[in-house]
Amino acid sequence: MDKILRINMGADGGPEIKTEPLGDYAGLGGRAMTSGIVAKEVPPLCHPLGEDNKLVIAPGMLSGSVAAMSGRISVGCKSPLTGGIKESNSGGQPSQMLGRLGYAAIVLEGKPKDDTLYKVLINKDGVNIKPDNSLKMLGNYDLVDKMKAEFGEKVHCISIGPAGEMKMSAASIAFTDMEQRPTRHAGRGGVGAVMGAKGIKVIVIDDAGTSARAPADPDKFKAANKEFVAGLRKHPVTGEGLPAYGTNVLTNVINEAGAYPTKNFSFGQFEGASKIGGEALAELENSREGSATHGCHRGCVIRCSGTFYDKNGRFLTKQVEYETMWAHGGNCGIDDLDAIAQMDRLDDDFGLDTIEMGATIAVVMEAGVAEFGDAEAAINLIKEAGKGTPLGRIIGNGAAVAGKVFGVERVPVVKGQSMPAYDPRAVQGIGVTYATTTMGADHTAGYAVTANVLGVGGNVDALKPEGQVELSRNLQIATGAIDSTGMCLFIAFAILDQPETFQALVDILSGFSGQNLTADDVTALGQSVLKKERDFNARAGFTNKDDRLPDFSKKSR
Ligand code: SF4
Repeated sequence: MDKILRINMGADGGPEIKTEPLGDYAGLGGRAMTSGIVAKEVPPLCHPLGEDNKLVIAPGMLSGSVAAMSGRISVGCKSPLTGGIKESNSGGQPSQMLGRLGYAAIVLEGKPKDDTLYKVLINKDGVNIKPDNSLKMLGNYDLVDKMKAEFGEKVHCISIGPAGEMKMSAASIAFTDMEQRPTRHAGRGGVGAVMGAKGIKVIVIDDAGTSARAPADPDKFKAANKEFVAGLRKHPVTGEGLPAYGTNVLTNVINEAGAYPTKNFSFGQFEGASKIGGEALAELENSREGSATHGCHRGCVIRCSGTFYDKNGRFLTKQVEYETMWAHGGNCGIDDLDAIAQMDRLDDDFGLDTIEMGATIAVVMEAGVAEFGDAEAAINLIKEAGKGTPLGRIIGNGAAVAGKVFGVERVPVVKGQSMPAYDPRAVQGIGVTYATTTMGADHTAGYAVTANVLGVGGNVDALKPEGQVELSRNLQIATGAIDSTGMCLFIAFAILDQPETFQALVDILSGFSGQNLTADDVTALGQSVLKKERDFNARAGFTNKDDRLPDFSKKSR
């Protein structure tokens, strides 16, 4: 990956394409690249939807190589939801393909002169951008079908749905999975709204005629990759739990721990949890045409995903993730798997963050707009967002906006972003992460559920403050590094518990880059990412007073 693609949407005479060498950004990838560019080039006080914000899309350092698990892609910008820096990452095929095509980053910048919508094609011959207003308000599924018909059956897409076009703060960016379905999303922080503000509906990628990126030291790289894969296969979470049941294996575990936010964070346990847990979901998927074990991109060996078919044997959506199942399930008092899967499909099609949507629907349920447990009403609320009705626009702008509009006190947000599926009162380490991460409430930024609940990477009592700050800090640093490599964060279970698997990861990075890296280099990478992000947020006006959980979460239920 030796070049950066810049598309200036505000150039005189129409969009201007430039390809340039890496310069100061050489050696960076994923989150290190997106946060590096945003911190350096975006004025922190700019409007997130204005000409000075930039949308940066960056494959991880190892993406495009044959390293296992290396297909994550990062999206960065100033967030319309939080007002701070944002990195949201996704699986899917585009990361590997952009890596093979040699692009370390795509930077969308400037402001279009009018509301023309554009499509971009990237292949081995270069980059092409064309206006196409026939794509306006298409859902992601129809859009991908249209792109396949136009550019060939093998292309993959990075796209926004109607929510992104309407610049909603809960809008996501979709990345197609191995079967070219738009099921993987950079969901958090409203990154889809920034792509919409740039006037780009879809980036189509065709990597025909390219080959995998070659490591600098093939023998070292190959041996380390083999050791790494063996480590993932032998760990009980990455080798058994996630492949068999997906991330939704957590539903019963978190519910047992009393940490499952239920009915807008009113309770810590949900009576319908076992009906929507990973075991029930896998049984339903396997009993239909679907599968409970599936990878979201080539090279994934954990395969935590799956495919969900409806009652009539038609593909509906990917296996619903734990956080989505919670957001639209227990948090809204809903225990109907088919209804929740339908909501997941609608979110993916409209291009909406499932966590933000579920949290927002629960807030408006608390306000009396619908009853907790009413699945049909929840589905209709998502459709309102997809259509952009006045109520839909409120919902599509997230829980903080909806809470204010409807006068709700219990609004589960930090820095404007919804808290995910772990109650910070019962998992205090994740509370520290929600409060202090640069991202707004984000479980992935420092997943303290590991040592607080799962006994992975040690044990820290979830109900006591002792040890939580150190736990969260170390995890946030490690995550900053992992998110830069292109590795899926789920490798963390194995590398936290198995020193030899962690060493194998370091050796993969060394073998690929030709450098002799150590664990300290990985830590330094994570720290450098966090420092850039905190510095951006400070310049955007955030202080440590913003590192706070909402008032209700300091009180007992
Ligand atoms: S473990 Fe799951 S999220 Fe991670 S790359 Fe594999 S399928 Fe995608």
